Amino acid sequence: MPDHSFTSPSSNTYSESTFRDVIIIGAGASGLMCAATAGYQGKQVLVLDHAPKAAAKIRISGGGKCNFTNMDISSENYICQNPHFVKSALSRYPSSAFIELVERHGLAYEQRELGKLFCSERASDLIQILRTECDWAGVEVQTRCAIQQLSYEDGLYRLTTSQGVFQCAKLVVASGALSFAKLKATGLGYDIARQFGLNVIETRPGLVPLSFAGRWQKRFGELSGLALDVSVTAGGRSFNEAILFTHTGLSGPGILQASNYWQAGEPIVINLLPKKDVFAELLALKKQGASLSKWLQRYLPKRMVQQWLEWYPLNDQPQPDMANISDDSLRHYGEQLMNWTLYPSDTAGYDKAEVTLGGVDTDEVSQKSFEAKKQPGLYFIGEVLDVTGHLGGYNFQWAWASGVACGLAL
Ligand SMILES: Cc1cc2nc3c(=O)[nH]c(=O)nc-3n(C[C@H](O)[C@H](O)[C@H](O)COP(=O)(O)OP(=O)(O)OC[C@H]3O[C@@H](n4cnc5c(N)ncnc54)[C@H](O)[C@@H]3O)c2cc1C
Repeated sequence: MPDHSFTSPSSNTYSESTFRDVIIIGAGASGLMCAATAGYQGKQVLVLDHAPKAAAKIRISGGGKCNFTNMDISSENYICQNPHFVKSALSRYPSSAFIELVERHGLAYEQRELGKLFCSERASDLIQILRTECDWAGVEVQTRCAIQQLSYEDGLYRLTTSQGVFQCAKLVVASGALSFAKLKATGLGYDIARQFGLNVIETRPGLVPLSFAGRWQKRFGELSGLALDVSVTAGGRSFNEAILFTHTGLSGPGILQASNYWQAGEPIVINLLPKKDVFAELLALKKQGASLSKWLQRYLPKRMVQQWLEWYPLNDQPQPDMANISDDSLRHYGEQLMNWTLYPSDTAGYDKAEVTLGGVDTDEVSQKSFEAKKQPGLYFIGEVLDVTGHLGGYNFQWAWASGVACGLAL
């Protein structure tokens, strides 16, 4: 077999290499889950990670409390070129299975809005559970281990690393994606996929704030820190969640969700008064001759209303006489409030993105075992794949479910 190399060989040479049944690259959410599962199956498992500590993303996720799963999970909560791909693993390892695992370890957790489950104390409690499972399953975890070269010969994978040379029959790539490079995120998994001739779908930041240029950046900066409960639509998907004004644009859960569906050059549409019969209420205001500003303040913060009326004065009047506004103008104004159409200039990039859209093409791997169809013994799990969840614990659930499905198949 040819020797596939993605970097030049290390100057270090080792006369001997260490053999393990399974080597997993990446001691993150999916890698640790897969390792424990395979270890319990009696496999000798070694996990290699270049970071100083395992599972850095779990530690900081969910504001330090890790939103580790959701009570309501379906394939609808995921973006993938093959929308059916996630179904098998998610149905074999549903959120109830992960909840059962953490309850067995006595983790205190709480349910928040929209079915999100968080640790009650610290996300590090969850890392401890995964580490304990790995210990019980006899898994070795080697951190500060930089992967320098990978080759495949005679059915064996050979990894040259800063900690020595390792060989295995089965190699699992659980190295995650590009978001948050400061937590040691890299594109190694994509390089390995390409090395073995697998297609990688173009990546872009997801669950990310959106930036604005020019006057909108200035306007949003003036409202920085203000949050609104609205509905946001991008690319045909709508989310009823809060948005937050920032110095560079818009953030908050509604915007992060919409960012997964937003494409450069496309608009986002915000309904400032979701679930309200806006036109009927405006007609009632007209009948009463009541104040537009006061009516808006029933639903929106005063600062927002003041700015809004400056940006969009009704009939060019800061304090319009409602009794004299035509029904057509009112209808048009209502539309403006319900379909506030904005054009972001960009996203805030991978450094601020919780996830990466795109990745290893799921057509290249088995949805049951996660083994590459063209390359025996090579597996891809977690976020390195072209699978991205919505905000709300869906990304971790994908890491757990793909890790377990692969671990059982090794
Ligand atoms: C700030 C933030 C908050 C988040 N909050 C949530 C949340 O609350 N709920 C949720 O569901 N999802 C959340 N996510 C997303 C979630 O963290 C990821 O989807 C999940 O961790 C992916 O798991 P993984 O195992 O695929 O990759 P990771 O957990 O990222 O693990 C990959 C591992 O591979 C290692 N690695 C990378 N490159 C190399 C290399 N070249 N050599 C050796 N090792 C390497 C890394 O050090 C890391 O340990 C959040 C993400 C971020 C950035």
